[in-house]
Amino acid sequence: MLQVKNVTFGYSKTKILKAVDFKVEAGENLAIIGESGSGKSTLLKLIYGEYDLKQGHIFWKDEEILGPKHNLVIGYDFMKYVTQEFDLMPFITVEENIGKYLSRFYPEEKQKRTKELIKVVELEAFANTKVKLLSGGQKQRVAIARALAKQPEILLLDEPFSHIDNFKKQSLRRSVFKYLKNNNIACLVATHDKNDVLGFADQLLVIHDSKIIEKDTPQHIYNNPKTPLIASFFGEFNVIEPFGIVYANQIKIVAQSDLKAVVKTAYFNGSNWLIEAEYESESIFIEHSELIESGTEIYFVVSS
Ligand code: ADP
Ligand code: MG
Repeated sequence: MLQVKNVTFGYSKTKILKAVDFKVEAGENLAIIGESGSGKSTLLKLIYGEYDLKQGHIFWKDEEILGPKHNLVIGYDFMKYVTQEFDLMPFITVEENIGKYLSRFYPEEKQKRTKELIKVVELEAFANTKVKLLSGGQKQRVAIARALAKQPEILLLDEPFSHIDNFKKQSLRRSVFKYLKNNNIACLVATHDKNDVLGFADQLLVIHDSKIIEKDTPQHIYNNPKTPLIASFFGEFNVIEPFGIVYANQIKIVAQSDLKAVVKTAYFNGSNWLIEAEYESESIFIEHSELIESGTEIYFVVSS
């Protein structure tokens, strides 16, 4: 189990993180969300042991994670960190990068393991390509595979799929997260993409103003967004009194009700239309299956 105990940290006098406290069990998937600059990467770096802590403690099982003051070489064998920068070797191939830290004494096992990981990140077609020739997204996948090579117990992923195009993203996410679950590898994912979280995370942390403002299952946080900031992470929403925060998909257009609005614009989003309508001189957003012409009067109800 990972234990982050009451960690407060700043690069200078300004505190970036205050009294951060949470646990992650073996094999568990924890997602961390927060605005850009909220301290997600800093938190992962602290867990990795990149900085010395002045306040608080971090443990993996019984071992305390210590910073550079106590460790000549940063990092631990049981933990890998895929940074936002990847740090790959550009002049050797994908296969060589992934196998780089595997023992040369067992060439067959090494090859088998490398192949398995290339499959997990869906890079079979590029196994023998030099890394410098790859796109950003492909490099990101090599970095994930390399981090998994020596079977860590805990994996830190910093916006892991941010450079990967939508054609690949969904299947790659499923493949990587399934591999981590099957191998009981705990994983912490810093992200601003709800799709990295909703189907996969066991727990979700929301960081805001240097603090953890929410810590629960993604389902619970989605269904009970405490603040507009949290709701905005999941999708289009409205604040309508007396209902409070209401997602666009919780508003239903009906034949008659006490709530009347006038359609302003409609945006096609694939499965639905996002209707922007004026309600009590404010814009509201409604997910609807059909296009409605601007100027049309509509009635709506709010479902919970
Ligand atoms: P996030 O990953 O959520 O975008 P970061 O953890 O990268 O946020 O950054 C949090 C804050 O710490 C930002 O204000 C950033 O400018 C600052 N910061 C990040 N790294 C350093 C550093 N090495 N030295 C000083 N300030 C830093
Ligand atoms: Mg970051």
